Amino acid sequence: MPRKKKDSKEKKESQLIQSAKGVRDLLPEEQPWWRRVREVSEEIADFYNFHRIDTPILERAELFERGVGAGTDIVEKEMYFVKAGKDRLVLRPEGTAPTLRAYLEHGLSSMGQPVKLYYTGSMFRHEQPQAGRYREHHQVGFEILGGEPDPLYDAQAILIGLRLLESLRLKKLVVRLNSIGCRTCRPPYRKKLVDYYRRFEGKLCKDCKRRINANPLRLLDCKNEDCVALKARAPIMMDHLCSSCRNHFKGVLEYLDEVTLSYTLDPYLVRGLDYYNRTVVEFYVEDLNIALGGGGRYDYLGELVSGRRTDLPAVGFSLGMERIIEAMKGQAVGGRGRSKPRVFLIQIGAEAKRKALSLIEKFREANIKVIESLGRGSLKAQLRIADREGVDLALLFGQREVFEGTVIIRDMKNGSQETVPLEKIVDEMKRRL
Ligand code: AMP
Repeated sequence: MPRKKKDSKEKKESQLIQSAKGVRDLLPEEQPWWRRVREVSEEIADFYNFHRIDTPILERAELFERGVGAGTDIVEKEMYFVKAGKDRLVLRPEGTAPTLRAYLEHGLSSMGQPVKLYYTGSMFRHEQPQAGRYREHHQVGFEILGGEPDPLYDAQAILIGLRLLESLRLKKLVVRLNSIGCRTCRPPYRKKLVDYYRRFEGKLCKDCKRRINANPLRLLDCKNEDCVALKARAPIMMDHLCSSCRNHFKGVLEYLDEVTLSYTLDPYLVRGLDYYNRTVVEFYVEDLNIALGGGGRYDYLGELVSGRRTDLPAVGFSLGMERIIEAMKGQAVGGRGRSKPRVFLIQIGAEAKRKALSLIEKFREANIKVIESLGRGSLKAQLRIADREGVDLALLFGQREVFEGTVIIRDMKNGSQETVPLEKIVDEMKRRL
C-alpha cells in the first residue's frame, strides 16, 4: 500500500477509538472526586430539603432561545442541534430552563411554595475547548421556584452554594454579588450603557461590537484588554437601580450579614444568560480566575418559557463539577473512594472455584465486602494480590476444605491461620472485623 494511503488509514483507525473533540471519559481513577461532589451535593440537598429532579438531555431549541435569550453566546453559537425527525431539538446547554419547564409542565407548584429542586447532569456547549472549558460538562444546580420574591431566598441560595463548596473542603472561597435590576430600571440603564460604549465603538473587540446591540450588559463582562480599560468609566447598574430593586438587594445583603457570610460587591458582574434579574452571584476560589459557578434571581423566566403572563419568582445557582474538581485537586483535596474490602477469598482447585461464588454471596448477605481473583489458580499469586489490596484477612478455600466443609482464616498481618467450619465462617468474620 502506498505510504500516504497507509498513513491516512492508520489515522482513521486511531480516530475510531478517540472521543470527539472537547468531550472526555471520566475514568475510574477520576471517580473518587466525582463521587465526593455528587454525594456532598446530595447531602446538602437533603439537609436543605431540595427534591431531586432529572430532566431529559434533549429539549426543544425554543426553550433556550426564549429562556436563555437569542443574544447570548449559548444560543447564538453554542447549541448542539440534534438531527432526527422534524422537531428542532438540542442537547441542553444548561439546567435552569429545563427545570422550570418541568415545573410548569407538571404543575409542581402543588409541591409547596416555594418548591426546592436540585439536579446534577451533563450540559453541552459547542465552545472552543481549553482549560476548564469542555463541550460536555456537568453541573449541579439548586433552584427555588414559586412563593414570594423574598430576598431571604436569594440569601439562602447563595448560602447553600457556599456551604456546598465549603463542605467539599474548598478554601479561599469568594462570593461575588451584584444586582442587575428589573424591567423598570434596567432599560434606561442599558440605554446609558449603550450611549457610553457607542462613543468608543471603534476600540471595541469584535464580540463587543456585536454585544452592543445584542446584549449590552455583557460588554462589562469582556476580558479583552481594550474593553476592560473602557469599562472603568462605564455607568454601573448599582447607581441606577429603582427603589424596589435597591431595597431588595439591601435585603439580600442584610440576610447575608446576619449569617456572617462575606461577599464582594462586583458592579461588573452580569452573568451570561438573559433570564436573570436583580441578584446575580458567582462563586470563585481566590487564586483561580475562573468561576466555579453562579446564579441569581430569574423572576421572568417562567413568562419567557411559557409565553404567558406568569407570576413565578425564582432564584437558584449552578456549579460546574469539572471546575470544582480542578479546584479540589489544586488544593490537594481528595475524593471519596469506594469502601475498601477487608477480606480476600483465595480458592484453590476446581471444586473450590465452583463453590466460590456462593460463598461470596453468604458474605454479601451479611454486608461483608469480599474481594477475590477468581481467574487465578495458584495460592502464591492470590496471596500476592491479597497483600497488595491491603486486606486484614484472607480465606483459604481449597480441595481439602471443600471436602471437609471448612475454611481457613489467615491473618494477613501475622500470618497465623485457623480452620473454621463453613457454616460458622460468616459469624466468625463478623466477630473478627
Ligand atoms: P453558566 O450556566 O454559564 O453560568 O455556567 C455555570 C458553571 O458551569 C460555570 O461557572 C462553570 O463552572 C461551568 N461551565 C460552564 N460552561 C462550561 C464549560 N464549557 N466547561 C466546563 N465548565 C463549564
